[in-house]
Amino acid sequence: MQSPTRFLITGGAGFIGSHLAEALLEQGHVVAVVDDLSTGRLENIAHLLPHERFHFARASITDAIVMDRLASQSDVIVHLAAAVGVKLIVEHPVHTIETNIMGTEAVLKSALRYGCRTLIASTSEVYGKGSKVPFAEEDDVLLGPTSRSRWAYAASKMVDEFLGLAYQREFGLPVVIMRFFNTVGPRQTGRYGMVIPRFVRQALRGEPITVYGDGEQSRCFCDVSDVVQAIIGLAFHPDAPGRVYNIGSTEETTINALAQRVRALAESQSPIVHIPYEQAYAEGFEDMQRRVPDITRIHTLLGWSPKLGLDDILRRVIAYERERLHA
Ligand code: UDP
Repeated sequence: MQSPTRFLITGGAGFIGSHLAEALLEQGHVVAVVDDLSTGRLENIAHLLPHERFHFARASITDAIVMDRLASQSDVIVHLAAAVGVKLIVEHPVHTIETNIMGTEAVLKSALRYGCRTLIASTSEVYGKGSKVPFAEEDDVLLGPTSRSRWAYAASKMVDEFLGLAYQREFGLPVVIMRFFNTVGPRQTGRYGMVIPRFVRQALRGEPITVYGDGEQSRCFCDVSDVVQAIIGLAFHPDAPGRVYNIGSTEETTINALAQRVRALAESQSPIVHIPYEQAYAEGFEDMQRRVPDITRIHTLLGWSPKLGLDDILRRVIAYERERLHA
């Protein structure tokens, strides 16, 4: 049997982190989570707390003493802690930039001291206003103007990518950059704008389903269970470090089509309404029209591609939200 690997997940009480922790424990690994619970929720990991191979530290990743202690007991760090969500970002750009840049710097410093392989979460947002889809890792990155604070998130994650790869180049730390494309699934919060949990809750409550803009913008949604398998693959593959990887689905859907699908699968009578962007977001927002990943690189390395399609994903989220609604 493979000997257990000691993982540290920053932001492990969040949506992706809590699913990752579960999967790693199931595979027999040791998992520590550090989370300040600013957006993560204790209830996401409450069921893991009694596990003998699980450890939780409520702390900020910028606390160097805590991070050093945790890193000293880890082989791999998966750095997911970040300020995320378009709504949060356009409303709190200072918090976003500081958390994402200072946090990643702190994680990399501790990782270097203890030689931990480090996987850093980045985002498809870094493809910004690029219009040539699908987006490949070596494509140029084109953000919008600094007067639009939406791009503060992408810019902060760009710095994280450069910083991480610089740690590998200059100091030999093994670093993997993961560009996530619209990851969805149970436990994702709708608080900061994420469209699927919002549409599902609206449909289940019989409230209007709120499509922003003309609804012809598209996204590719990937189930968190598939994303977790990609992360684990990258954590162990000897050739993964030193590069960026797109992680996402290539099944493209418009937001209009998504609204229809949610309504049908939830057997809802909710009306579908269109809301102008100016009413939906704080000043500083601007939308991405299309967002499709090229996943050749990760597929070539790991043979990975998503297993679940949009309908499977929606059924899972509907079941989860239905249970919460009746709890
Ligand atoms: N969106 C929408 N209604 C909502 C929330 C989001 O139409 O209630 C749209 C949003 O404007 C965007 C898409 O759905 O075009 C995906 O938004 P989300 O915030 O989930 O992710 P991102 O924009 O980061 O891809």
